[in-house]
Amino acid sequence: MRLQGKVAIVTGAASGIGKEIAAAYVREGAKVAIADLNLQAAETVAAGLGGPDHAIGIAMDVTSEAQVDEGTQKVIDTFGRLDILVSNAGIQIVAPVEQFEFAKWKQMLAIHLDGAFLTTRAALRQMYAQPEGGSVIYIGSVHSKEASMLKAPYVTAKHGLIGLAKVVAKEGAKHKVRANVICPGFVLTPLVEKQIPEQAAQFGISEEDVIKKIMLKDTVDGEFTTLEDVAEAAIFFAGFPSNALTGQSLVVSHGWSMQ
Ligand code: NAD
Repeated sequence: MRLQGKVAIVTGAASGIGKEIAAAYVREGAKVAIADLNLQAAETVAAGLGGPDHAIGIAMDVTSEAQVDEGTQKVIDTFGRLDILVSNAGIQIVAPVEQFEFAKWKQMLAIHLDGAFLTTRAALRQMYAQPEGGSVIYIGSVHSKEASMLKAPYVTAKHGLIGLAKVVAKEGAKHKVRANVICPGFVLTPLVEKQIPEQAAQFGISEEDVIKKIMLKDTVDGEFTTLEDVAEAAIFFAGFPSNALTGQSLVVSHGWSMQ
């Protein structure tokens, strides 16, 4: 029970990595808000984690200032405090730079960067008011450190999260607020399953080759990172007890990136 008595918001937690982190946090004793665009799916996940004593579903489009502020306030009103923010909600859109639609570029930056900013701002207002402070965790990516073709806004946004985390680490220190980034390699979630056929079509290769020759090519062992691997790192950052670990990014990727 490494997170007993803590309260967390996990954005995009109706699916994939966020859902796994939310479940791991509940197992470790935290109360968790499943904040997602998809309220019905968020409520189903919350019910599966034991209902309102353990988890609640919150409707939140992370690109909406009003929804982020109202949703965060609802979590504070329900559970009385806020110790952990996991800024995880994200999508992927792939295309070469010269063909990238401006509207889609802006949509990507809005979800990944505006979303991180808005949820951080709302969380800090509560964390700064608590003597215990809190922990802000961004779900970056190996693409916070490395580039891949077809992913210009994703790579740009994921690099940007490291900058945001470093500023929050500096500003938050005197309030005992830590900020760190987890940078996963490829994890088989709906976000990645969608990319496999898309990249096969874009590069004119088989889906098997997308996995072997693109996605896992630079790992040390040809393995996908698992949901459990990422959740373990998220527990570690959430429970770390001092400012010794702040402003950092941790790559969990089977050695794809060693930066
Ligand atoms: P996913 O598609 O399984 O889940 C994403 C969730 O985010 C969904 O529940 C969706 O409803 C929600 N969401 C989308 N837009 C939203 C918005 N505007 N507001 C609130 N919620 C919204 O994806 P995933 O693979 O679990 O990805 C989660 C995060 O992990 C993303 O930031 C992604 O970039 C990052 N990531 C994923 C991988 C991977 O290989 N899957 C690797 C590195 C980083």
